[in-house]
Amino acid sequence: MNTIKTTCPYCGVGCGIEATVEDRSAHRVSIKGDSNHPANFGKLCSKGATLGDTVSLENRLLYPSIHGQRVNWDSALNHVAERFNAIIAQHGPEAVAFYVSGQLLTEDYYVANKLMKGFIGTANIDTNSRLCMSSAVVGYKRAFGADTVPCNYEDLELAELILLVGSNAAWCHPIAFQRIRKAKENNPNLKIVVIDPRATASCDIADLHLPVKPGMDGLLFNGILTYLQQNSRIDRTYVDTHTDGFELALSEAMTTAGSIEQVAAGCGLTTEAVSTLFDWFASTEKTVTVYSQGINQSSSGSDKCNAIINCHLATGRIGKPGMGPFSFTGQPNAMGGREVGGLANTLAAHMDLENPEHVDRVGRFWGSANIADKQGLKAVAMFDAIAAGQIKAVWIMATNPVVSMPDADKVKRALQHCELVVVSDCIANTDTSQLAHVLLPATGWSEKDGTVTNLERRISRQRPLFPASGEAKHDWWIISQVGQRMGFKDAFNYQSSADVFREHAALSAFENDAEHQQRDFNLSAFAELDGPSYNALQPVQWPVTNQQTAGTARMFADGQYFTANRKARFIPIIPRPPVNAPDTDYPFTLNTGRLRDQWHTMTRTSLAAKLNAHRPEPFVEIHPADAERLGLAARSLAQVQSLWGSMLARVELNSGQQMGSLFVPMHWTAQLSSHGRMGALVNPVVDPQSGQPESKQTPVKIKAWPAQ
Ligand code: SF4
Repeated sequence: MNTIKTTCPYCGVGCGIEATVEDRSAHRVSIKGDSNHPANFGKLCSKGATLGDTVSLENRLLYPSIHGQRVNWDSALNHVAERFNAIIAQHGPEAVAFYVSGQLLTEDYYVANKLMKGFIGTANIDTNSRLCMSSAVVGYKRAFGADTVPCNYEDLELAELILLVGSNAAWCHPIAFQRIRKAKENNPNLKIVVIDPRATASCDIADLHLPVKPGMDGLLFNGILTYLQQNSRIDRTYVDTHTDGFELALSEAMTTAGSIEQVAAGCGLTTEAVSTLFDWFASTEKTVTVYSQGINQSSSGSDKCNAIINCHLATGRIGKPGMGPFSFTGQPNAMGGREVGGLANTLAAHMDLENPEHVDRVGRFWGSANIADKQGLKAVAMFDAIAAGQIKAVWIMATNPVVSMPDADKVKRALQHCELVVVSDCIANTDTSQLAHVLLPATGWSEKDGTVTNLERRISRQRPLFPASGEAKHDWWIISQVGQRMGFKDAFNYQSSADVFREHAALSAFENDAEHQQRDFNLSAFAELDGPSYNALQPVQWPVTNQQTAGTARMFADGQYFTANRKARFIPIIPRPPVNAPDTDYPFTLNTGRLRDQWHTMTRTSLAAKLNAHRPEPFVEIHPADAERLGLAARSLAQVQSLWGSMLARVELNSGQQMGSLFVPMHWTAQLSSHGRMGALVNPVVDPQSGQPESKQTPVKIKAWPAQ
């Protein structure tokens, strides 16, 4: 038997796995946690532990096809290349787009971005990670001058106060949460505060739960900044030495959140709860603020991130053990995608499309005379452009936007009318692949070969357990082959994922002059990595430079940031409520999120019987008092409806749900439930800075079904 070290493909915690192949032909493998992996030290959650149940050939896409007819790879690749070239020739490069995924490996992501931005010549490539972490990216770039997560998991164990803001880590990042739980057992002085409209499973270990009014977290953190000033808790030395913009940020905070009473009223909290939070934050040096989708998925998500970071900068609690602002990304490789410029507004190696020097540098490195020099369309705008007929060809890789995008019925209609829809995926039958003209089979988790980066900047290897199924190919290979057939032969002549990774690392170190020394993302130690060393790569946190080959556990220890003057920036925040407020027609606020035992649109986790047992069907959570008022009995069926769409779901009573709000999990697809899906309900409002949708605050109504 053959034991292979690899990485879990689900959440951003990035747990190491030891997979022992028991029967290669039957795809039978036993899974256990890798006791040496620094993310999980041998632990796995329910999803990771059942990975062995998801690697069969059930519902696998095994052969290329065009218009439903099986074809060979040559025909499929030539067809995609010819159709893209023809549409570009007729309508220009802005008429085509890629929509990619945080499920892709870094190597796949890199090649897709190189083809679209470097050679097709438009930045119309965006990712489903737009939906999970793009507000955090804006927050970091505005504050630090680069998209850099300062903390690591060890900080969770060294902290004496942890705020979990808009994060149900117990279900969405279970192993990181287990580390927090263990830390609390070992340190009775560690306080946990959960700031979330819902009383989630994360509240099980909380000393304080603040059921903040949906969307008002920015006001709460402005209140903390005000309180720090009023109680002489600002670290003036740190602020004066290492930051800019404090006075203006403080002025906005004091104007909008001048007193505990003002904050409590605006956030729908008691003054006692707000006062306790403020006091704990002010008096606890070792504070980590974890934030996730409850912060990011908001029309003011970027500002909320900066409201949090402001409080850490004001106290100098950053870059030191046990403290810092710590965004938790949802997907296994959302971070790797960020490294290669996976967003429509970024460029490879954390460089910027708006910076002509960066564009020139990347263009010269790639040997491209046609590199994009302005932002492309972000996810919601991209599907709007498809709906409007401006984008005529889209290639969707490893994601299911017909389920997961906001206003998902519109996304479905857009794809139904799009001239060319290409889908590359390892799954045969998704709500999105049903609309594809061309289907390209990609390798799945147990066959892929490359790297992912977890939410603490740690790069780990995914290694193949089995050969590719059917005629499936690696994503980087498929994209490279199309690139070659579009006329870019030399630029996409990769022979292995190691070739791609080496180029990616070399770009991060390219022209490392004085300006580049300030770049956060640097893998110069890997710029000449050979195949065997790549195969043996151990988990390591970037930057990994020739001077620092063991990687970098914590950023900003020296108080030096990546801005031009090396100082961090305070961002003045004026808190804003969600764009669409409940009204008499749609009186509830819909919150959406993940369940403990399912992943995204369930294409893999639904294959594990144990996982399906947790919550077997779509449901809507409602406060018992609201349910009684509307005559909704527990376990009855109800229709949830917004201005954008509707779905049916089983009624679940939950007193942890705020009155006036509902919760629907994100996972069920039209394939699994014929009664609608969450994405159809969600308003397509986005944060103006990040383009991240406001997925957690849509006005809806709910009524018994069938109508009484
Ligand atoms: Fe996988 Fe995340 Fe669970 Fe770890 S915590 S086993 S990465 S799903």
